[in-house]
Amino acid sequence: MWQVIGQDKILALLDYSLKSGDIAHAYLLLGPQHVGKKTLAISFAQALNCDGQGVPCGQCASCRRIWEGKHSDVISIGPGVRKAISIDDIRELQHLANLPPYESKHRVFIIDGAEYLSVEAANALLKILEDPPPKLTWLLLASDDQYLLPTVGSRCQRLELRPLPREQMRRFLIESRQVEWSKADLLSRLSQGCLGWALSALDGDEWLEQRRQMVSKLSSLLDISFAERFDYAQARAAELEKKHEPAVELVNAWFGWWRDLLLTKMDGMDSIANIDYQDLLRAQASVLSLGEIKEFIDKLYKMQQGLVSNANLRLMFEWLMVNMPRKEVIT
Ligand SMILES: [Zn+2]
Repeated sequence: MWQVIGQDKILALLDYSLKSGDIAHAYLLLGPQHVGKKTLAISFAQALNCDGQGVPCGQCASCRRIWEGKHSDVISIGPGVRKAISIDDIRELQHLANLPPYESKHRVFIIDGAEYLSVEAANALLKILEDPPPKLTWLLLASDDQYLLPTVGSRCQRLELRPLPREQMRRFLIESRQVEWSKADLLSRLSQGCLGWALSALDGDEWLEQRRQMVSKLSSLLDISFAERFDYAQARAAELEKKHEPAVELVNAWFGWWRDLLLTKMDGMDSIANIDYQDLLRAQASVLSLGEIKEFIDKLYKMQQGLVSNANLRLMFEWLMVNMPRKEVIT
C-alpha cells in the first residue's frame, strides 16, 4: 500500500512501471513544499525493494528499514543549512553509485531540494545521468524546476504532484485523523492542499497561537510607519538568517494573506484560506485597489525567488517593506 494520499495518476503510472519493470533512471518530483514529494520518494524506494505482497507492503524488513532511513542503498541528501548542494556532495554519490549495492535489489538516491544544486554539481549529475549505472534510480525533488538546469530536467521523467483538493483533505483529516469539522476545514484551507503541512500542524496546538501572532503582525504592517516596518524587517532577518525553512514558511503565510486579499476584492471569499479572519480581510481589501494587491503579490513572488537564490534576507525584507502599500485600516 502506498503511503501517499491523492496523486492517483502518478501512483497508477508508477504501479505500471513496477509491473512492467520499465523503471526510469531518474525522476523529477515537482510540487510545492509539504505536498508529499519526500513521502512519495520513500514509498517508491520501498516499492522498488519490497519483499512483501502488494508493494510497497510497508511491513517487510526492507520497507521498514527504508521508512526509518536505515537502508544502506537508499540514500537521501539535501541542501541543509548551507542552502546548497555542492559538487562534492554529488561526487560522493557518484562514488557510491560505482560500488555494488550492499543489500538491495534496486538502489535509490534521493536529492531533496534539487533546485539548490550548484551549477558545477548539476553538471556533474548530468554526466552521471547520461551514463547511468544499472539498478539505480535517482529521485530529484524540487518545488520548481525553473532553477534546475534544463538539461538535468530533460534527463528525468517528470512527475508533478498536485495539491489535494480541499474536500478530499478535509475528509481525510476527519475520517483518518478524527479531526473535528471546523479545524479540518481551517487546516485544509491554510495548507493549500499540502497534506504534510496539515499533518505537522496536528502535532500540537502551538501552531494556532503562532499563526494568530503571525497573522496579527503581518496584517498590522499595512498601516504602521516605515520606521516600524524597518524594525520588523530587521528583527525577522536576524531571527531567520540561518533558518531557511521558517523563512519560506513566513513568505508562504504572507502569500496566503495577500492571495486572500485578492480573493476578497474579487468576491471570492468562499475560497480564502484564512477563513477565521474574514472581517479583517474585508477591511483591508476595502482600502486597497486591485492593482496594489496584484503588484504586491508580484513582489512576494520575487521574494520567493530571492530565497532560493540566497539573496540577502535583510535587504529582501526591507525591499518588501518599502514596496508594501501604506493604508489606514478601520476595523
Ligand atoms: Zn515491503
